[in-house]
Amino acid sequence: MRPGRLLLFDVARTYCRDLASVDAAREFLQFKVHVAEHARERILMVVNRGVTTFETVKHPATGHPTNITKESHDAIAVMELRMWFDLLLFELVSIEDALVQAANAVFEFNDSPENRHLKKIVHGRICKELETRHNLAPPESEATGIHDWLRAEPWLTDIRELRNQATHRNLVKLRESKSWHEKPTLPPPRGYLRSECYVDLGNGREEPIAEWVPITVDKVKDLLNGSAKRLADVLTLLRSFYGGEAAAARRRAWWKQTKGAPCAHPGAEAAELIGRDGLTIYFCSDCGERVYNVTGKKSPKGGTYI
Ligand SMILES: [Zn+2]
Repeated sequence: MRPGRLLLFDVARTYCRDLASVDAAREFLQFKVHVAEHARERILMVVNRGVTTFETVKHPATGHPTNITKESHDAIAVMELRMWFDLLLFELVSIEDALVQAANAVFEFNDSPENRHLKKIVHGRICKELETRHNLAPPESEATGIHDWLRAEPWLTDIRELRNQATHRNLVKLRESKSWHEKPTLPPPRGYLRSECYVDLGNGREEPIAEWVPITVDKVKDLLNGSAKRLADVLTLLRSFYGGEAAAARRRAWWKQTKGAPCAHPGAEAAELIGRDGLTIYFCSDCGERVYNVTGKKSPKGGTYI
């Protein structure tokens, strides 16, 4: 099944005037997801290799295991773990911002991406569209897709909080648990034991990094795909309200040609789909904007609507 985040851009390409900005928003969001996935893989590689390991020393001449065991600590692995973890948090938090900016672009709101309150603004504007174009009232009109990110889910709050703290403390707490310290254990023949590292979530909460990282990446991706799917559904509704794909194609051509010059809407044509109220939807034959009263406008067949 096509992920929700891609569906959103599929619909956007049949709705928006500026396809270059749709593609730019899609690429940026995809980039964020791919970097987060890459960071997850790198973290798991370090964890699987082990930061502190415990193994049996082999005899230098024969290569056979001896009775001696050795613990080795890899300082570079610690640095790598911290580096990839910082990057992971940065990307996970920015996936949300990238989605909000994508919604800002595909709904053609064109609010400044720099605005610190963009998430609330975009959510509010989509609510308004649902209320005015589709006669919905809260709480239905508040299901914008962006609303998923406004609810403070505890795990989402954790990521944001960790991201903020990543600037001033190390998050990968190296209270490693070393199983061979807890009770005398021998390394497996020809293998080794490795320590477990923890993410320090604050207030005494800590989670094994090897578990927390993949689960959290999946949660963010699920939330992203679910919310983008809702955005795609709302955008589909709006597209219908404005006369469907044919009207959108006309608006796109007009925008390309005139960069949005005003139009007197001399002629109107009927959309293939019927409005929510059961009445025909008309759009301007030139600029593609919806025309609410066609009396006196030219029809594509050469006549005049009466
Ligand atoms: Zn027009």
